[in-house]
Amino acid sequence: MPNTPLANRPHDHSHCVHTALAEADALCARQGVRLTALRRRVLELVWQSHKPLGAYDILGVLSEQDGRRAAPPTVYRALDFLLENSLVHRIASLNAFIGCNHPEHAHQGQFLICRECHVAIELEQAAISDAIIDSAKDVGFSVEAQTVEVVGLCGNCRSA
Ligand SMILES: [Zn+2]
Ligand SMILES: [Zn+2]
Ligand SMILES: [Zn+2]
Repeated sequence: MPNTPLANRPHDHSHCVHTALAEADALCARQGVRLTALRRRVLELVWQSHKPLGAYDILGVLSEQDGRRAAPPTVYRALDFLLENSLVHRIASLNAFIGCNHPEHAHQGQFLICRECHVAIELEQAAISDAIIDSAKDVGFSVEAQTVEVVGLCGNCRSA
C-alpha cells in the first residue's frame, strides 16, 4: 500500500484550515507583515479544500457569502501577498491557487494534480528540485523558481 496523502483520506478538514490560519498568523507576525482581514479570508477560502481554487471562484464566494464587493485587483493583490509569503502556491496549468502546509521554510512546489477530482498533492523532494537545477546548469541556465505540475489520477480516483 502506498502512503495515502491527507487529501485522499477522510479527515476533519476544519483542522487543516485552523492550522493553516494559525501558522499564517505566526509567520506574518514573525516577518512583520500584515495579514489583513481580507488576506486572511482569501487564505481561508484557498484552504476550503485540497483542490486548487481560481481567483474568480474566490471573488464569487466573497460576494456571495460575505456580501463583499471585492474588486478583482484587490483579490489579486491579496493572492500576491500570500504567494510572496509562501502561504499559497500557484498552479499555472489550472490558473489556480492552493494552500501550502509548510510555509515556514523555503521550498519549490511539486504537485501531483488529479485530472479527475482535481485534488493537488504537494510533494517536497529536494532531489527533484536539485535534479532540475543541475540539468539546467548543464545548459548554462540559472533557475530562479520552479513549480513542477504533474497530471494523473490520484489513489482515490484510481480505485473508484
Ligand atoms: Zn484537509
Ligand atoms: Zn508548499
Ligand atoms: Zn482524484
